This record gives sequence, C-alpha cells and structure tokens, in this order.
Amino acid sequence: MTKELNPKTKEYSFFGPIGTGAITILTPVITYLLYYACPNSYDDGTCKLLQKPALGRLAGSDFWYSLFTLEAFAVYLAWYAFTVFAWAIIPAQWVRGTQLRDGSYKYYKMNALATLLMATGLAAGQILRAGPEGFTYFADNWIPLLTASLVMSIAQSVFCYVSSFTQGKLLALGGNTGNCVHDFFIGRELNPSIGSFDIKTFNELRPGLILWWILDISLACRQLATFGQLTDSMILVVAFHGWYVFDALYNESIILTQMDIVHDGFGYMLAFGDLTWVPFTYSLQARFLAYHPNILGPSGSAAIAALQLLGYYIFRTSNAEKNEFRNGKNPKNLQYMQTKRGTKLLTSGWWGTLRHPNYLGDLIMALAWSLPTGSLTPLTYFYPAYFTVLLIHRALRDDAHCREKYGDDWNAYVEKVPYCIFPYVF
Ligand code: NDP
Repeated sequence: MTKELNPKTKEYSFFGPIGTGAITILTPVITYLLYYACPNSYDDGTCKLLQKPALGRLAGSDFWYSLFTLEAFAVYLAWYAFTVFAWAIIPAQWVRGTQLRDGSYKYYKMNALATLLMATGLAAGQILRAGPEGFTYFADNWIPLLTASLVMSIAQSVFCYVSSFTQGKLLALGGNTGNCVHDFFIGRELNPSIGSFDIKTFNELRPGLILWWILDISLACRQLATFGQLTDSMILVVAFHGWYVFDALYNESIILTQMDIVHDGFGYMLAFGDLTWVPFTYSLQARFLAYHPNILGPSGSAAIAALQLLGYYIFRTSNAEKNEFRNGKNPKNLQYMQTKRGTKLLTSGWWGTLRHPNYLGDLIMALAWSLPTGSLTPLTYFYPAYFTVLLIHRALRDDAHCREKYGDDWNAYVEKVPYCIFPYVF
C-alpha cells in the first residue's frame, strides 16, 4: 500500500547526483561571489564577476572575518521568528489545496499579505523615527545576514530530509530515487509540516520574499543616507520589486496550484531558493544602485516603466486566464479542448498563443528591473540571464510532467500551440 503511494522515482532531474550536487555547492558560492564582485563600496562602478579582487576576496581572509556575526545571526532569527509569529497570530481564511495522491487535502492559512504590510509598517515606523540611517542595518550587514539565511536553509533541508524517513509520509514523486544527494536537493517529502504549519508554502512566500523587499528598502535608505537623494533609477527598481512581491502575496492562494507546491518536495532546492537566493540575489540591482547612483531622466524612466507595465500585463492576464479557468470560470469565453484525463486545456487567449505566456511576462519584467542600472556593468543583468535559463528549464520540466499527465492530448495541444515562451523561437 505505502509502496504504491510512494513509488520509487525512476528518472533523475537536473542531471542526477552530479548535477544536483554541483548546484548545491555552486549556488551559495555564486551568491557570495555576486557580493564580492560588486561589494558595498563606492568604487568606479565596474562590477565584474571574474575580476581578480572578487575571487581574491572570496578566497582571502576578508571573507572569513566578515562571514558570520552573532548579532546578524540573531537579527535573522528574529526576522524569521517575526514571520512565523505573524502567520500564527494574524487571523485569516484557511484555503484548501489541491487533492493529494492519498485522496486527502491540506489547508493553508492565507495571511502573507498581512505579514508584508506589518513588516512594511514596522520598517516605515523605524525610518520615520530614526531617518534613513536608522534602517541601513540590512544593507550594511549583507554577508553575515546572507550566511544566517544559508544556515537556516541547510538546517531546514536537513531536518526535512531526515524526518521524511519516518513512517506515513507522502513523498514527492520526483524526490524518491534513493540517491541521497539527488533526493536531498529535490526534497523527499511533499509537504513537510509541523502541526498545521506547512513548511514549504510558508518559506515560499514569507521569510525570503518579504526579506527581499525589506533589503531593497534598506538599500534605498543607504543611498539616501550617503548621497542625500533617492535617484529615479532606485525608485523604479524598488517600486518594481515591491510591486512583484505585493502581487505574489495579494494573489497568495494561486501558489497552491503551482509546480513547487503540487509536484516538488521541500528540499535544498526550495529551501535555499526561497530563503537565500531570492532575497540576496534578486536585490542585486538595488544593491548596485545604493553605491553607484544612476540618473535616468523622465524619458528613460518612462520607457522602462512602460516595459515593466507590458511585462506585468502579460504576466497577470495570462495567469488570471488560467486560474479562472482552473476554478471553473471562463469570463472571456475562451476555447478549450477536453482531455481524457478529465481536465480541460485552454486553446485560445494567451494559452492558445504560447504554452507558458506567463514566463514571457515575467522575463520582460526581469529586464525592466535591470535596465535602471544602465550600462555601467553587465553584472546587474545577472537576474534576467539566470531567470531565462531557469524558466526554459522549468518549461521543459513542466512539459514532461504534462506529457505524463495528459499523454496524446498533450501532443495534440503542443501541435496547436508549438511555442513555449518566445514566439517563433522556443
Ligand atoms: P504555470 O503557471 O505555467 O502552470 C503550468 C501548469 O498549467 C501545467 O502543469 C498545467 O497543469 C497547466 N496548464 C498548462 N497548459 C494549460 C492550458 N492550455 N490550459 C489550462 N491549464 C494549462 O507554471 P509555474 O507554476 O511554473 O509558474 C507560475 C508563475 O510563477 C509563473 O507566472 C512564473 O513566471 C512564476 N515563477 C516565478 C519564479 C521566480 O523566481 N520569480 C520562479 C518560478 C515561477 P494542470 O493541467 O495540471 O492544471
């Protein structure tokens, strides 16, 4: 019975143990390297990933001295505890997730947006009380805070991996190969939880995503405190990032049907991605601008804002079309095909144009977030470059899952809608 419920995973993801092992080791190195390539300093503004000083700093004693401080560790733990506390005390609706393989359902407390507003209110209060200098702690203690988040990611992935071996756990279909390196990375247990506290959804939307926004505010304060002004480029970057975080939390329940929640286990991939990678690499443009102010002017700002709007329009309307359809609504009267599996697939509107129109919108926004840094360094374009690779790989993974779920119906859909993200290219 348990065997059927938790079948052995036959195929490796991410090139198996070698690929997952390499990503596990390299991603923290890249996160630190992005800092040392582009440190918090007012140099000539040319951040280069592979410049000698960056690699030297990473290998040298500077790195080891600044890596960890007890104070930053305590601040990070206090931040994490705050998000757990907010989850526990803010009253909210409990929403039912999708049906699990064992026929059961999980319920999720939807108060992430209230947590964001509470955190923003506390940050605003501190800035009003103490001025911008009073909120630069996060910007000024980047590396020890990053280390603290990394320790938390590793601790949680080890805890979830070990506890997944206790009896009666529902495992992720992709994380049960028996190879510890691969399964530790992908995540063995589908929904690790402590009582009604679901570890995966909690980490996905709260301590890391909201911290990204808080880091951005701290970086804007650092620019204001140092240069006496907030540049238009910084305002745009912080507004775009804040908008993205707000949008994700405003639409919190949508996450319950996404791949991470429905399909992936909670392993190092999600723990590190949620807690360390998102806040400390997605904020790179704001960190660069905090130390290298860039003035765009009204026409430059307007052009970038228009690009962001275009990306957001595609991202939001395409996600809305699918979510409404999956919730039994079809306000635009879109065409669809019936599948043998029972669920229908949209064949007009955004999903009749591309198989992942929402990824295209996300990528356009990613570019709009980097353009405010101008052409001073290619490094601030790291996010759109990495994100393109991530979303192409994610689209391929989703295609494989859908082919498994829908069989020939999926092939018929692919024939109708041949392009995934970029029209006539991919
Ligand atoms: P999608 O929202 O693209 O969902 C894919 C699923 O949609 C499929 O598995 C299938 O599931 C369903 N589907 C596919 N085609 C159709 C169709 N024609 N009609 C109806 N349903 C269809 O995937 P993700 O969960 O990857 O992405 C969600 C959002 O999160 C995206 O906007 C993405 O850009 C964003 N994202 C952001 C990241 C970040 O770091 N900022 C990282 C990853 C994602 P089924 O048929 O079973 O319902």
